Amino acid sequence: MHFEGWPKPLIDETFASWLFRAAHSKNCLSFNSDQGEMYYDDSEDPDFDLYSAAFDRVCDAGGLKKELIRSYFKPRASLLSHPLHRFSFCRMCIREDIVNIGMPAWRKSWCYITAPYCLRHGCLLIVMEDDPTFYKPWEAFATEVGSAPLFAYSRRWGGVPSKIPSAEIGMRIQKWLAGLDTAEWFTLSGQPELVSTSLLKNITILTMQILLSCRIVARSAGPARALYCDGREPIVHERLTYKESMNLGAVTASPYERMIALLMISCIFGLSDENEKSTMASAFRASGYRWLSDARQIGSLVPGFYSEQEYLEILDLFSAAPYLNNECLLSFIEGFEDAAYRNNVFSYAKMKAWRIQRRLRR
Ligand SMILES: [Zn+2]
Repeated sequence: MHFEGWPKPLIDETFASWLFRAAHSKNCLSFNSDQGEMYYDDSEDPDFDLYSAAFDRVCDAGGLKKELIRSYFKPRASLLSHPLHRFSFCRMCIREDIVNIGMPAWRKSWCYITAPYCLRHGCLLIVMEDDPTFYKPWEAFATEVGSAPLFAYSRRWGGVPSKIPSAEIGMRIQKWLAGLDTAEWFTLSGQPELVSTSLLKNITILTMQILLSCRIVARSAGPARALYCDGREPIVHERLTYKESMNLGAVTASPYERMIALLMISCIFGLSDENEKSTMASAFRASGYRWLSDARQIGSLVPGFYSEQEYLEILDLFSAAPYLNNECLLSFIEGFEDAAYRNNVFSYAKMKAWRIQRRLRR
């Protein structure tokens, strides 16, 4: 793909990164840093908002064909991190960019919640210190060559080292999730029949979100944030509903937390065999943690429900799960009941849950 007078976009590059490189290219006369900064400030999502007035302005001024730009730079995943939380990057990719093209570039996949690893280099993304700006790729490079101990930023408050043997499993699950965005039908391991990808994608997104829920005053964080970190999870001081905590938690999660969520997904959807489960158990044991491989146990540790209505609403989000016919997933959802018990959700909810479960098991 080549746009005349503009730099050649890299594979998987974001629109904002391409503009950043154009603004610093001697050969691109249609775009400069001032225009770039203005675009970045005026756009709510500079990487992917390809329908905004700011986007139109850039395309009109630079003689770019909007449809072509949209089709090239659109995201390839459904679940994107919040634009202000897109500071995770792969240090090896940045180093290679400097060698190959003389400029660092930002990748679309670094913005996907379901992609905490760089699959090209087989490592967990690290996090730069500053808030993202138009010069984000340079800031990442500065972080990369700086003296800060980068390993500290690869996760939020310590926990399990990212280079444990289970990283292989995490990367496999990341590829599996990426496959959901390209295929129409899919098989789940352990069952021969094909399942609808859109349904599976829906349920995996909900599962990622619930695992990564943020902590609020009245409620703990999701298990992927709360269980394997050495430090305390920060509290969001806002009155958020359960669903809002799920959304906010997912879009602001660190690569380390998303890595834990992927490993949990492998248990929740029954995607790991006994070998892999024991690999994960020993890797976590070496860091002083007990790995939960039981889907129901993980389900019981989702943030507590504070009313029967809330409990039933979340259960309803997963009401299509039985069509996937996956025992592990159903056990995970049954585990919500234990979370409801912890918070004394009432008997009516319990009755309704029984009814739903009977339907689940049919
Ligand atoms: Zn990389």
